[in-house]
Amino acid sequence: MKQTFNMTPEIPEVCPHCYFGRIQPGKRSFAARTNGKPVMVPDFPAWICDVCGFTIYDPVSLTNLQRLLTNPPKPYVSRPAPKTPKTKPAKTHPQTDQPA
Ligand SMILES: [Zn+2]
Repeated sequence: MKQTFNMTPEIPEVCPHCYFGRIQPGKRSFAARTNGKPVMVPDFPAWICDVCGFTIYDPVSLTNLQRLLTNPPKPYVSRPAPKTPKTKPAKTHPQTDQPA
């Protein structure tokens, strides 16, 4: 038994929306939201019906994008120098407030 990897298992040949058009590979802008941040991909691989324009975003690319967003390839986050936190250094300072 040989397992073939089907790259597009969820892409139908005929549009599931109008049952008439054919799903063609194309590009669409894709907008997502991760952790409250809007993510915009201008040329996202998608499958578009040539009749009604029904769009299926490429599931493989979607998975890749999600992996990219959850696990950024850059290990270092460029951040401005960390400012002193608002919390005061709550170190018990042995200070006697009593007047001498
Ligand atoms: Zn269609």
